[in-house]
Amino acid sequence: QGANAMTSTTGGDKNNECFPTPKVVLYPEERVKMEWTRMTRIGAGLVNMGNTCFFNSTLQCLTYTAPLVNYCFTNDHREKCKKKDFCMMCEIQNHIKSSLDCGGRSIKPHSILQKLRCIAKHMKWGRQEDAHEFLRFVVDHLQQACLNGETKLDRCSKETTVINQIFGGYLRSQVTCLRCQAKSDTFDPFMDLSLDIKGVSTVEEAMAKFVKPETLENDNAYKCPKCKNKVRAQKRFSIEKAPNVLTLQLNRFDFHHHLSGKINRFIKYPEKINLRSYMSQKLGEPV
Ligand SMILES: [Zn+2]
Ligand SMILES: [Zn+2]
Repeated sequence: QGANAMTSTTGGDKNNECFPTPKVVLYPEERVKMEWTRMTRIGAGLVNMGNTCFFNSTLQCLTYTAPLVNYCFTNDHREKCKKKDFCMMCEIQNHIKSSLDCGGRSIKPHSILQKLRCIAKHMKWGRQEDAHEFLRFVVDHLQQACLNGETKLDRCSKETTVINQIFGGYLRSQVTCLRCQAKSDTFDPFMDLSLDIKGVSTVEEAMAKFVKPETLENDNAYKCPKCKNKVRAQKRFSIEKAPNVLTLQLNRFDFHHHLSGKINRFIKYPEKINLRSYMSQKLGEPV
């Protein structure tokens, strides 16, 4: 993503000039329905088919993501789908519908599991895999399915599928030259945020750590286009555009830890999180 990022440099405080605007909008954000559009009983449980907890937990999360489920029940995709073989969106739709139709029972998610190799080539049924990695592949395939063979669109327009409108946001990475104060903004789309949880005990603390400014100096110094020199600079991330559904990954691997290598500590999270203080625009309504 970094190589494709859009960058701009300015001496001013604010610069939104280069925040990408799509030429074509494939699915208008207003059509995303955040509240459940139909009442259903709680859906089916999923049978563990041999180390498939990573797989089942991911499917269960998606089955209760209201805007995705609402979309599945519109048949918008079914009417347009041109794929003859494997289609992630058709698979997910079938799965969600059968899960919600079988409330109180348990089902075997055979159909998708048999296509595991189509979703992630290196994943093997029967082996433990990483749930977050699997989710990334699923969401990526869902986005591809929504593009429906559209390859000529510019990058930003491709990021307007219903999947992007549900899960996608934009991050701003801002570098400030500490000599001339020039600011350089880079905007990158994201489908989830990976949080460092070392030394934190809540999601809010991890988010605060994520947006904390970092100093670039010495070997890591910044080449300022205005000063035309390697200089000390400050780099910070902020959420430029919040996604409708925020996906957070808690990075539990700890490579410096000799004993376990994994941070098993419980990380507290609120039922509702206000993203405002982690955003580029810090004033305004709660987000
Ligand atoms: Zn399809
Ligand atoms: Zn400078």
